[in-house]
Amino acid sequence: MYEYIVKHIPKSQSKRPGIETTMESITVHNTANPRSTAMDERNWLTNQYNDRSASWHIAIDESQAVEAIPLSEVAWHAGTRQGNYSSIGIEVCESGDQVHVWENAVHLIAELLYKRNWDVDRVKTHKYWSGKNCPRLLLDRWSIFIKDIEAKLEEIESLNNQTNNTDSNSENNQGNNNPPQWKKDGIEYLADNGLLNNKELWLNKIDEPMPVWATMLLLKRIHEDANRG
Ligand SMILES: [Zn+2]
Repeated sequence: MYEYIVKHIPKSQSKRPGIETTMESITVHNTANPRSTAMDERNWLTNQYNDRSASWHIAIDESQAVEAIPLSEVAWHAGTRQGNYSSIGIEVCESGDQVHVWENAVHLIAELLYKRNWDVDRVKTHKYWSGKNCPRLLLDRWSIFIKDIEAKLEEIESLNNQTNNTDSNSENNQGNNNPPQWKKDGIEYLADNGLLNNKELWLNKIDEPMPVWATMLLLKRIHEDANRG
């Protein structure tokens, strides 16, 4: 995991023009610097010797995400006007443990998608906009990167659904003393057919997530039962 730090650069003609815009996508970059951390990248933006206009929204490394420009403002990262005016620029650092950096970038992007109700097709490469070989460390594994983001997004969605369901259940049922019949149906059927021991135990856990071992054990029993004919 990583710490999320907001450390905006001051508005300026060059790197942060302060133009509010409507974002429609996320653009992924690599820093092209094997040693710099996210905070190094952030500090470089305000270094007096940096006379380039290039900028970005969030840099992420093995332990920190640093937001340098508000996510609703234009930054100069995509190499095309359309990209700069419609896409959130993420700089993925090349320093540190690249497995952690990968995981952090996946998590950060999945969170950004979730908050905006966006799908993974909103995630673009710098190369998509301008043809530049960027993100240079990720392009070869881009489809895996996208699949990982998709899986993380589903995980975040299901975690949030569970929380919402638990909340509404506790309001409606006041502790599940009296679950509706459609919830009890499966448990009663499996118990009646000898596939579930201790029906009361499972009825008491009716709104809890199923641990992997219990799911597998139940599937094993059903499989054995089916094979017995
Ligand atoms: Zn780039």
